[in-house]
Amino acid sequence: MTFIKIIRLTLKMQVYDLKINKHTCTGCNICCVSCPINFKHLKDDGELTEKNAVVLIKNGLAYPIYIEEREVNCDGCGVCIENCPQKAIKIQIIEAKEA
Ligand code: SF4
Ligand code: SF4
Repeated sequence: MTFIKIIRLTLKMQVYDLKINKHTCTGCNICCVSCPINFKHLKDDGELTEKNAVVLIKNGLAYPIYIEEREVNCDGCGVCIENCPQKAIKIQIIEAKEA
């Protein structure tokens, strides 16, 4: 008798919630240009839009973009936090789900 073992690898995916302080953010754009994910999309796609960016500037303020269906979202690397001159960004894990 043959037994086939099916091993299911369960990957936990973390969702990062970027909190940007609208009182201290100056809209300088440093977070957007320093983000490695934004940089990759800018290089590959030639532009940053609400469809491919994970953080953008709108009306003079930075705002995070999370789209569940999309392949790449913020990975919580913290580069934007380190580079923000206003220390206006905080990040928290809001969800861990099975992939
Ligand atoms: S780097 Fe900081 S101050 Fe500049 S746009 Fe981003 S959140 Fe705002
Ligand atoms: S934490 Fe990393 S991936 Fe997320 S927005 Fe900041 S720089 Fe980009």
